[in-house]
Amino acid sequence: MSQTANEMNDKYGFDAEGLRAYAGRYKEDAMIAVSSSGGAASALAECVIEEGGVVFGAVYTDDFKGACFACAKSKEELLPMKTSKYIMTDKRILKDGEWVSVFEEVSMALTGGSTVMFIGLPCDVGALLVYLDRQAVDTEKLFTVDLICHGPTYPEVQKDYVETLEAKYGAPVKEFSTRCKAKGWTPPFIRAVFENGKVHKERFYESEFGFAFRLYSRTSCFSCKFKGDDHKADITVGDYWGLKEGMTQYHRLGVSVLFSRNEKGEALMKMLSARSDFLVEDADKTLALDNNRNFFQRIKKPEQKYEKFKTDFEAHGLHYAVIKNPDYKIHKKRILKRRIKGLMPGAMIRSLKNKRVK
Ligand SMILES: Cc1cc2nc3c(=O)[nH]c(=O)nc-3n(C[C@H](O)[C@H](O)[C@H](O)COP(=O)(O)OP(=O)(O)OC[C@H]3O[C@@H](n4cnc5c(N)ncnc54)[C@H](O)[C@@H]3O)c2cc1C
Ligand code: SF4
Repeated sequence: MSQTANEMNDKYGFDAEGLRAYAGRYKEDAMIAVSSSGGAASALAECVIEEGGVVFGAVYTDDFKGACFACAKSKEELLPMKTSKYIMTDKRILKDGEWVSVFEEVSMALTGGSTVMFIGLPCDVGALLVYLDRQAVDTEKLFTVDLICHGPTYPEVQKDYVETLEAKYGAPVKEFSTRCKAKGWTPPFIRAVFENGKVHKERFYESEFGFAFRLYSRTSCFSCKFKGDDHKADITVGDYWGLKEGMTQYHRLGVSVLFSRNEKGEALMKMLSARSDFLVEDADKTLALDNNRNFFQRIKKPEQKYEKFKTDFEAHGLHYAVIKNPDYKIHKKRILKRRIKGLMPGAMIRSLKNKRVK
């Protein structure tokens, strides 16, 4: 049943009616496979590059122990921006061997007359717009894209995780992803490739990194000022959670949801829809929002568990902080249950489920 504008706005607590929602994904499986969801962020960036513009987005640092920004002028330079880095980025880019402010670089590109796209977390976009406003920079040629945001963890978590892997595998990391689609869109896997050719793969939410991501978000994320109506970007992109196998728009490798909120957003959507390699359709806004509350709600701070994790992490590192956390036993139990289930034939699982229903 369709909802009236008021019902929808009351339900979500912001002007949801004012948003246009789209489902989007690359047509080619290989392109979706290397993207976080359906590849909408990359495809939007390609639209700008094809028009001669430049794109600023997040990349890992060369050692994969942190993340920062980079500026792409070609499609090849967009590749390292692909997939989610679940840590807060340094707001700098490496230019001619020097670290410089990404906001300053965006400002210079706009002042120089370039069309610019900036892709970041909602607070990154908010901070950029404040900076440009203070500098009185003309933003007519600026397009902004932000992501639905759970809140990243600290870069120190990634550093610790990567260094532990490097010690275990005996070589530096040369490729790293937290959104490897080894079994499709979900569950996400961590995949790290080492200089000696070895490969590490584990389910993200079963890893110590994933444990920290769920619990140990940046403090400011618990009072995030960029939810619902307060997203400042022209378009917000996320995973179109809620789509299930059997639904027409579902794709086993992932689908993006895009929320456009102004004329620039609609202009970008027009460019995206005109692409022959990308599929855009209207999305079911209620389905998308019901299954992605991080768009309009802040995450809650698990006070005591958080403080304990922080203290343990700062004193003894990631492994110690995870195994000493009160949630660790539940976490281990969940992993064990999933593994046992994985060993059981399908018929046995169905029979157990039927018994439970009776
Ligand atoms: C910390 C974090 C939390 C998220 N939480 C949610 C959530 O709760 N629900 C949800 O639906 N989606 C969430 N996302 C977004 C989701 O993971 C995908 O990034 C989104 O669906 C876009 O996928 P894509 O295939 O279009 O992106 P791709 O085409 O793979 O491109 C990824 C884009 O994300 C940008 N990016 C990656 N990491 C960062 C970062 N740390 N900071 C700034 N920009 C970055 C890159 O610049 C790139 O443009 C989150 C992303 C991050 C980084
Ligand atoms: S949750 Fe809010 S404050 Fe935290 S990174 Fe995302 S946009 Fe920024």
